[in-house]
Amino acid sequence: MSDWTNIINAATTNDPLSGAINTPIQLSSTFNQKSFDEFGEYDYARSGNPTRDAGEKAIARLEYGHYGYLFSTGMAAISSVLFTLSAGDHIIVSKHVYGGTFRILEDVLPRWGIMHTFVDFSDVATIEAAIIPETKAIYIETPSNPVLNITDIRAVVALAKQYHVCTIADNTFLSPFLQKPLDLGVDIVVHSATKFLAGHSDILAGAVVVNDKKLADQIYFIQNAVGATLGVFDTWLLLRGIKTLGVRMTQSSTSAQKIAAYLDAHPKVLKVLYPGLLSHKGYDIHMSQAKNGGAVLSFDVGSQENARTVVEALDIPVFSVSLGAVETIISYPPKMSHAELDNDALANAGITPGLLRFSVGLEDADDLIADLDTALAQI
Ligand SMILES: *Cc1c(COP(=O)(O)O)cnc(C)c1O
Repeated sequence: MSDWTNIINAATTNDPLSGAINTPIQLSSTFNQKSFDEFGEYDYARSGNPTRDAGEKAIARLEYGHYGYLFSTGMAAISSVLFTLSAGDHIIVSKHVYGGTFRILEDVLPRWGIMHTFVDFSDVATIEAAIIPETKAIYIETPSNPVLNITDIRAVVALAKQYHVCTIADNTFLSPFLQKPLDLGVDIVVHSATKFLAGHSDILAGAVVVNDKKLADQIYFIQNAVGATLGVFDTWLLLRGIKTLGVRMTQSSTSAQKIAAYLDAHPKVLKVLYPGLLSHKGYDIHMSQAKNGGAVLSFDVGSQENARTVVEALDIPVFSVSLGAVETIISYPPKMSHAELDNDALANAGITPGLLRFSVGLEDADDLIADLDTALAQI
């Protein structure tokens, strides 16, 4: 079945009671049991409820996985996966990992004896050198935020298998429509479903998808134990958002490709970071594991002053954090997602003072280019 059909099939239902094609919102924290001896599928909504179940089955299908889990936020999903580790365990993580994931690894898990090493994931030998006997997992994020570095998923999976280590991939930036890490051998896929999956800047949500039953049981145990589950209203909105994932990703990534080419040729733009550009150093690897360059790009206008001028002159995009929505969002990472980093750490992460991140929405690409053209003319 093609991805297009799979998305619609996964996100619609046939309610046995009414025939409703949209999943009913079941607002019930508890469920009546059939008899003293005979219990039904659901007992208490934290452990499971029909609305969340429908959403979990849908996200699993989108990733071509067997088991899906929905959480209240992307960070709840990522934390719950990391909570499957125990004191003494070690995890290797891309140094370009999302800021919230960095914070959990750096400030929370070490208090519980779970250790990590951040390494540059562009070179598999560097990852291998960081493996120690306590290493239990390798954590991939590709393309990375905000510099769009590419990790060779197949190569990391091969390395992990050799050392009997689990692999985790944050697939937020591309969504399962453009990249399916489980198909490439990854064990656990995580998402901030807040972004492309929901797609409308309305809800916060997180997802985890796995194939292995033992891993699934561990994730479910933590989901139920910690309780950071997705509520039924938000699950309904997520399912509604997912229905248009294919058209949104196609439109936004086509526009992003066009905008990246425009910016790449602009004399005021120092560099464009977009894995759909032939000049991107990860282009070949990226294209071997994803459908296209995606809908997010970053570009460098030379200085913080220039970045301010461009942001203030732009008319169409929203100036905010987040990404993956119907509206185009421009962000300034040094003051937003990466505000906690000092100048050295920013430079180390490749976040230059003039770097702007652009998450392309559904507006007309030519309108966005005209807007950028006017703004760039002011610097
Ligand atoms: C936003 C984001 C997260 C965190 O998700 P929340 O829904 O904000 O908790 C994790 N990873 C990536 C790549 C993100 O962009």
